[in-house]
Amino acid sequence: MARQDDTPAAGGKLFVVATPIGNLDDLSPRARATLSQADLIAAEDTRHSAALLRHHGIATRCVALHEHNEREASVELVRRMQAGASIALISDAGTPLVSDPGYRLVRAARAAGVAVSPVPGACAAIAALSAAGLPSDRFVFEGFLPTKSAARRAALQTLRGETRTLIFYESSHRIVETLQDLVAEFGGEREAVVARELTKQFETVLDGTLAQLSLRVAGDADQQRGEFVVLVAGAGDDDAAAKLAAGRRVYTILSTELPPSRAAKLAAEITGASRKALYDASAASSEE
Ligand code: SAM
Repeated sequence: MARQDDTPAAGGKLFVVATPIGNLDDLSPRARATLSQADLIAAEDTRHSAALLRHHGIATRCVALHEHNEREASVELVRRMQAGASIALISDAGTPLVSDPGYRLVRAARAAGVAVSPVPGACAAIAALSAAGLPSDRFVFEGFLPTKSAARRAALQTLRGETRTLIFYESSHRIVETLQDLVAEFGGEREAVVARELTKQFETVLDGTLAQLSLRVAGDADQQRGEFVVLVAGAGDDDAAAKLAAGRRVYTILSTELPPSRAAKLAAEITGASRKALYDASAASSEE
């Protein structure tokens, strides 16, 4: 990222403050102090955040910073921080910038030489991972899948061979369809977890195979309400190895007619093997 000048701005600072994902008491003491002491809070939805701020006796003035005004609002907020103001950025829930606004403001602040400091706390993806019992040493956060089924299926196809645990956000409107699409693209046997309404009254963390979870959620209207994190175990070594073997067979045929990069791309699309793994394998065999 290009910095506009190397001189640190005097005084002003941007604090990126995580707020609760349901239970209002999950605001850390440092987050509370930061919000109380800031000159201004930039909030995704000022009315939504009013309940949290009232609950914690925080009287700091709020301005709106959401996806529709972030670009213009960031210019003015950066100007204020350059003049010495400390500003706290919050979103409706959890950690700002994680499927939430804030990216443009953080980038603009850093580019202007304003110090940016995180005040960490709740994040639904990490909370779900911590309770899921799926491999947690390596994982990928995919955020929200596309809302239309064809685009969602296409996105899932590209993730079929992913060996790390996959984490998705999903809404109540699409949870049933998304689980069905996961079964269709990843197979029903993959281990998964559906974490719903974390830290709230009706919290449930269901585990099972994708086929079991899809049936369970589709058959119970209560399990379709609220907010969801869906976690899916990565493709097993067998799965990835089988895909790579199939990918190499297809690659060998295609590469007689096409340049290697094009052949690797198509073979990856057809078989679900990782394009990089195919490319590496073909490069290694051509060196033998
Ligand atoms: N910035 C937030 C974070 O740090 O997790 C995420 C914001 S994103 C707009 C909202 C999505 O996060 C919801 O649709 C849901 O998928 C997930 N989410 C948020 N709170 C949750 C909760 N209490 N339980 C389960 N999922 C939740």
